[in-house]
Amino acid sequence: MSGSQIIVLVTPVFLALMALEWAIGRWRGRPALRLADAVSSVSLGMLSQTSAVFTVLLRVGLYTLAYEHLALWRSEAFWTTWYGWLIALVFYDFCYYWLHRMGHEVAVLWAAHAVHHQSQDYNLSTALRQTSSGAVLGWVFYLPMALAGVPPLVFVVVGLVDLLYQFWVHTEQVGRLGWFDRWFCSPSNHRVHHAVNDSYLDKNYGGILIVWDRLFGTFKDEDPREKCVYGTRGLLNSWDPLWANAQVYAGLLHDSWHARRWADKLRVWLKAPGWRPADVAQHFPKPAFNFHDMPLFDPPLSAPLRWFAGVQFVLLLAGVAAFLWQADSAPLATNAVWFATLLACQWALGAAMQGRIGMGLALMIEAGALATATSALGFTAWHLLFKPLTMAIAIVYVANHAYPMSVTGRFGLHRSFWLLLSALLGSLAGDVFLMLSEHLFIPGLVSFLLAHLCYIALFKQGAGWFGHRGALVGTLALGIGMYAFLWHGGLPAALRVPVAVYVVVIALMAAQAWGRHAALRERSSLAVALGACCFMLSDSLLATNRFVQPLPLSQLWVLATYYAAQVLIVSGMVTALTRGAAHQADARTQPLTPHAA
Ligand SMILES: [Zn+2]
Ligand SMILES: [Zn+2]
Repeated sequence: MSGSQIIVLVTPVFLALMALEWAIGRWRGRPALRLADAVSSVSLGMLSQTSAVFTVLLRVGLYTLAYEHLALWRSEAFWTTWYGWLIALVFYDFCYYWLHRMGHEVAVLWAAHAVHHQSQDYNLSTALRQTSSGAVLGWVFYLPMALAGVPPLVFVVVGLVDLLYQFWVHTEQVGRLGWFDRWFCSPSNHRVHHAVNDSYLDKNYGGILIVWDRLFGTFKDEDPREKCVYGTRGLLNSWDPLWANAQVYAGLLHDSWHARRWADKLRVWLKAPGWRPADVAQHFPKPAFNFHDMPLFDPPLSAPLRWFAGVQFVLLLAGVAAFLWQADSAPLATNAVWFATLLACQWALGAAMQGRIGMGLALMIEAGALATATSALGFTAWHLLFKPLTMAIAIVYVANHAYPMSVTGRFGLHRSFWLLLSALLGSLAGDVFLMLSEHLFIPGLVSFLLAHLCYIALFKQGAGWFGHRGALVGTLALGIGMYAFLWHGGLPAALRVPVAVYVVVIALMAAQAWGRHAALRERSSLAVALGACCFMLSDSLLATNRFVQPLPLSQLWVLATYYAAQVLIVSGMVTALTRGAAHQADARTQPLTPHAA
């Protein structure tokens, strides 16, 4: 049985204890968790486990290599006695202490570990909030065990025990435990570890034993007069699992890039977190940390959104469990596709809870990711469901935004909405034709051609024809280049004319999207323009795969770029159109002469 499978088996216990903690918190009148924070934390735990499938060589492979070549003393029999196991566990805990301590004292290691500390709550879900990049450098700290000859299996098992032990200490529902608090990592002294209060910062690193902190001078007892305030000093303020993992790295990269001296470029990574070169701090000042100004990140969750998040969370958990269960025996490419699919769903859930995207768009992203994965991995029956479903969701999503404006008479933008809906209907028809049969290539091509004509007309609304001449020349040149490549690669004679027409139309579509962005200069218009580029890329991949040379995992690249295109265009256009409608409504309700009074 693999470590991933053990985690899957333990998950129901985690969930049951979280439910118990929640119930006790309610009974005591102190709610222990917030839905979005808990979902975000557990989601980061899932990501940590799914990404660990790809870092097993770093975590266990390098250890095994070191053990086989460098072990000073080998005795499997000794390490598998009861005292051998115990010594290995204490040894692991000692190495963990130093990894964890350096994780707080060295910036590049903090960049990985910070994920565990970002929650502003402190409950059992916080325990599952784990980094996805810890394996990159973490293995170094366990090399002493390999040198001492602790067999890899013993190392892996005690590592799992050390990790699982730390689950229960992440709670505010257990108070002080007397002598236990002085010997072991406990809820009380681990609360101190998670606090950003001056007197608590960078204390109590121990995993199972807190003795290490007492030995090496990093122990701090919880003070009943000083209430713990949780989080990191550079607040995350996001439910985005990717950004949670990248936040600190991004800051370090920025400072390292802008530092003038080469030594400083390196120091940024190795000094204590928060250290900045003088020139960078001067050019890009950051407000000093203010303990009294740590607003709780808590975007409002409507009742439907709470239900949505709850259901999505359960489905995601099931998906991750299924992935982890088979990951050890599946090929790398299969694992990579499912990992990316789960990640897309996790990102969409976080973005929806944060109010960055609507629930409909989140569903569209998820259906698109599933349509891509099922096609790439040959789950044909599921693909037949998810492919049309994705565009159907897009159509409902757009219609749902158009409808309230039409009933309140604010449907001045109806032409744009109709064009968008027509483009999506054309795409849906094209999807179905291309999916059903090889022989329906031409009807598929025509459907997409009509869709692109609708997109061209849509992008022209309020922006004029081809406002960016450079983009027009560029996309046409790319189109001609692509066409020459296809011709040279063996484009069938019967398809030369339809494909030529298609290439011109999609190039014009992309040029029009960039022209629109040149006129509007908004985030949403940029999204649409990037979406149009993704469309060109997707069709280039499709045509290359079909006419020139079969590409490995072709459906993955073709569909991933295709859905990226549709999602960017739909989200950008809906944002622009709903805002446009709001402006229209404002203009109508305002008096004609505002200064008359
Ligand atoms: Zn820590
Ligand atoms: Zn912790």
